[in-house]
Amino acid sequence: MTIPSRDTYDTVIAGAGPAGILAAYHAAERGDVLLIDASSMPRDKSCGGMIHELTRDALAPYGEIPDSIALEPRYVNFRYVDWDRGVRKPTSLAFLNVDRAGFDEWLVSLLPANVEVVGDTALTGFEQDASGVRVSMRSGDRELTIACANLVGADGARSTVRRALGVDAGSTYVTLQDYVELSGELPPFFDCIYMRSLGDEFGYGYVMPKGDVAVVGSVFYPKTKRPWEKQDRLLEVLRAEMPQLGASVKREACAALYLRTRADIVPGVGRVLLAGEAGGFMSPTSGEGISYAVRSGILAGRTIAQGSANEALGSYTTFSAPLRRDIVRRLRWLPFMESRVGKYIGGLTPTWVVSRITEGL
Ligand SMILES: Cc1cc2nc3c(=O)[nH]c(=O)nc-3n(C[C@H](O)[C@H](O)[C@H](O)COP(=O)(O)OP(=O)(O)OC[C@H]3O[C@@H](n4cnc5c(N)ncnc54)[C@H](O)[C@@H]3O)c2cc1C
Repeated sequence: MTIPSRDTYDTVIAGAGPAGILAAYHAAERGDVLLIDASSMPRDKSCGGMIHELTRDALAPYGEIPDSIALEPRYVNFRYVDWDRGVRKPTSLAFLNVDRAGFDEWLVSLLPANVEVVGDTALTGFEQDASGVRVSMRSGDRELTIACANLVGADGARSTVRRALGVDAGSTYVTLQDYVELSGELPPFFDCIYMRSLGDEFGYGYVMPKGDVAVVGSVFYPKTKRPWEKQDRLLEVLRAEMPQLGASVKREACAALYLRTRADIVPGVGRVLLAGEAGGFMSPTSGEGISYAVRSGILAGRTIAQGSANEALGSYTTFSAPLRRDIVRRLRWLPFMESRVGKYIGGLTPTWVVSRITEGL
């Protein structure tokens, strides 16, 4: 098993998702970086693998997203579905359809040689003062302490770094995702499904074709009891109208940030920066998180590369302000979108208006 090779790095980054990888890529311009992840590498994050245009634009300077990770149909358009009323509103918002594990592996392959990537290594805590940060981690059965000038918490929705900073950790949606056999083609849509019969704990479901299989997922509000029963019910209802959907070959459970107020978006404290979901950087309205992880990761890494360790957070806070404003704008829509009235009006609104609004959310 691999453990970190040294006890001092310029920057330590917890979490090898898109936020951590992009932060590492840029922070490495200032000095050596240790990028750790609690799971084994290459990791396999539960995800729809829908790559938004904002992600494609942000990643364009790093090279082409490889064809080998694109799945059929290559592009799928977002479609709003009010299941109970039989309303379907296709939009012009198109996502690149990828294998998420392959996408993350491609990002790791971009890292320069002075980034050491170590899996099966979880940050457990840290201490910081004006001279630096001492990071505690568990690597296999070894407890280690590693010193660095800056720490980046990019450890996702249930961030340990965020909690250790004493920042309100908020709560998380519960997500379940099934990979379902396909016995015929599905139309090229990323269907976002509202279904009242599944109760108020059910946020929404989604279906998308993914190569040989379809992904059927559900997003439940925090503290939902027995969500797997509701996911079974969703599959049952969908199969009755979509005979292409066969047996489930795999089910995954995960968590997604339940972003509610502007106070949930926190760039960091002292020498510790928070990027991606750990910092509250994701879309609260669409659940789209990869573009926010990528963009906040780039900013965190660049500000580390460009300044002294004590100045990094100040610059990051300044440069990430537009991203935070964008999230706050989306937050204002949230109460309306989640209300019964909002969902009802969505069904009555002309398709082109739904399409325009969706592009902005
Ligand atoms: C079911 C589901 C479907 C989704 N579908 C989409 C989609 O189609 N498109 C989209 O844009 N977004 C989607 N998202 C959101 C998107 O996956 C996330 O917003 C994005 O991955 C966040 O990136 P990140 O780098 O902030 O964190 P993550 O990708 O979550 O990575 C965090 C990493 O930190 C590691 N970690 C956790 N704790 C520690 C620790 N203590 N020490 C070290 N490492 C630690 C974890 O193992 C993990 O690898 C989906 C989310 C879910 C749950």
